[in-house]
Amino acid sequence: MNRSVAFGALVAGALAVSLSLPATALAAPAETAANGSELSAKTVFLDPGHQGTGHSEDLNAQVDDGRGGTKNCQTTGMTTLDGVAEHTINWKVSQLVESSLESLGATVVTSRADDSGWGGCVDDRARAATESGADVAVSIHADSTSAGADTDKHGFHLIIPTLPIPDAAANAAQSEGGRSASTLMRDAYQRAGFTPANYAGVEEGLQERSDVAGPALTGVPLVFVEMGNGSNPDDAAVLESPEGQLQHAIALSTGIIDYLLGPDTTVTATEEDVQSDSSTDPGETASTPAITASAPAATASAPAKSGGNALSRLLSGISPYVEAVGVGGLSDLVTEDRVRSVSNVAQGLLKQLLAS
Ligand SMILES: [Zn+2]
Repeated sequence: MNRSVAFGALVAGALAVSLSLPATALAAPAETAANGSELSAKTVFLDPGHQGTGHSEDLNAQVDDGRGGTKNCQTTGMTTLDGVAEHTINWKVSQLVESSLESLGATVVTSRADDSGWGGCVDDRARAATESGADVAVSIHADSTSAGADTDKHGFHLIIPTLPIPDAAANAAQSEGGRSASTLMRDAYQRAGFTPANYAGVEEGLQERSDVAGPALTGVPLVFVEMGNGSNPDDAAVLESPEGQLQHAIALSTGIIDYLLGPDTTVTATEEDVQSDSSTDPGETASTPAITASAPAATASAPAKSGGNALSRLLSGISPYVEAVGVGGLSDLVTEDRVRSVSNVAQGLLKQLLAS
């Protein structure tokens, strides 16, 4: 069973969940299928935070902080409780998001080319984001709160810059698009079952700060995500695992899609109509794998129907499968009928995951 086939089954399964139909009824291409060009006019800049260790740059070199002062060029990033480097988690999640967006036709520009070497100071990355002319830029990070285990502090948050920002272009970009995109990302994370952070002054998933240079130097709307707390055992386990990284990537992708296409897109209106007529919970659909009632993605299925746009909801339908069977279990879902019914939605995302 090759992995692209396993991917096909997964997406077919996601369609089945969305439509509340048996997967075997999906042999004909569903009207709901994404066609792979939904984001063809869009550019997204992805910035997986920090860098690999193979460089000789001075992290303490002083660079413009966007507020009239200076700050360190870069930091190494955190390490999770189990010893996984943040830069690697950021990189893997970013790769998944890139593939997901490209499968929908987006142009993706990235701040660094690999996870082995240098990726630029914070001001370099902000400049690259601005020069890319992206519709939205996303900096992907994960947090830490202590060297040892911290069982109290957990959850994701979005860093938003204190306004106004001295630079007029950055101020315009972050006060309008950036704030809107950050709020939609927060919503997407919550629909995906992630909990907003309960520390560091985070309010409803948003943390306002004036000491982070990226947003203050970036002339396109920027979303700055801290996916979770690598010091927290539960958050760390999600950040470290392929399944958890995929769920973060799905949340990130759906937040980006919601911002780029808006909540009223008609791309998959048919799916929306069908879905609104259904009272069947995905977890109760006989053709789907058993999903425990406590699975975050499953419990988030109800609010997901009322938030975001139809395309992002379709994508988020993959989450219950990841939760239920894990990456290694996906191949068990495969049948030829299901493979024929696969749409392009998120095709690259799973290819990337399964190839890694
Ligand atoms: Zn970081």
